[in-house]
Amino acid sequence: MARIVVLGASGFLGSHLCDELVARGDEVVGVDDLSSSTGINLKGLESEKRFTFLKGDIAEGIPVRGKVDAVLNFASPASPPRYLETPIQTLRTGSRGTDNALQFALENNARFIMASTSEVYGDPVVSPQVETYWGNVNSIGERSCYDEAKRYAEALCMAYWREYQANIGIVRIFNTYGPRLDPSDGRVVSNFVCQSIRGEDLTVYGDGLQTRSFCYVDDEIRGILALLDSNEPGPINIGNPVEFTMLELSEIVLELTASQSKIVYRPLPEDDPMQRRPDITKARELLGWEPTVGLRDGLMKTIDWFKKSL
Ligand code: UDP
Repeated sequence: MARIVVLGASGFLGSHLCDELVARGDEVVGVDDLSSSTGINLKGLESEKRFTFLKGDIAEGIPVRGKVDAVLNFASPASPPRYLETPIQTLRTGSRGTDNALQFALENNARFIMASTSEVYGDPVVSPQVETYWGNVNSIGERSCYDEAKRYAEALCMAYWREYQANIGIVRIFNTYGPRLDPSDGRVVSNFVCQSIRGEDLTVYGDGLQTRSFCYVDDEIRGILALLDSNEPGPINIGNPVEFTMLELSEIVLELTASQSKIVYRPLPEDDPMQRRPDITKARELLGWEPTVGLRDGLMKTIDWFKKSL
């Protein structure tokens, strides 16, 4: 059993991580400023003795007392519409917040897992994206508040690793979906599923030929925990390498929900990447990890959850 701090505990991935860690017997301290989630995702852990929640902004400091064995930094808005609303806070969380978290991990001699992102590859000209690819990011575009915060956080992790031999692990997370996606945060899977269930038009941005590779949340969490339990510094891509266009996704969602909704086209957001697909050779070889849930199966579970929760 270990004492593990999850920063961003009430978010989509943070809350699933807390559940899994508590289920496997660890003691978990969850921290969140509740700026982009409400706390509802942690309801199931309320009566759990091995779980504690602390409200706090990691850019102001890490509010945890006592010795800890690992720190997982999942604090940040992650959906484009959300981080575009709060660009300065997004940059602060990724920079000052990550610095505070790394310092705290170092003082505890704890393993530190950084939730990085496929966005560090920007609008990639190499596909699939392998970890050695440096990316194609617009450092002054709208999305830069998120992309550059995460790139800075990676640079900071590597500096702590080189200078202090900090025990870091960087995971590059590709589009993940599943139960607990916030229906209002504007991501494509939650938008299409909610729109289909409500009989509203499905909003495809641009021509819908841009691609993403969608990983079901259970697979993603298993990959992150495999990195936590290893000594690998990363960065390691954790994502599902099967690629779909947004038009294909919309058609699959319409079919699975047996919806009569129509597809409508809306403008493509600035700097929206045209393609995204992880090369997961490193995760396979170093962590023995690969995803097992296909898009249709994962979407069915997600649709069932949204039907219950809407
Ligand atoms: N998208 C879309 N319709 C929507 C929301 C998003 O066509 O209602 C597109 C968006 O332009 C992008 C892709 O779906 O190309 C994935 O968007 P999302 O916001 O989920 O995540 P991203 O991968 O861009 O961070």
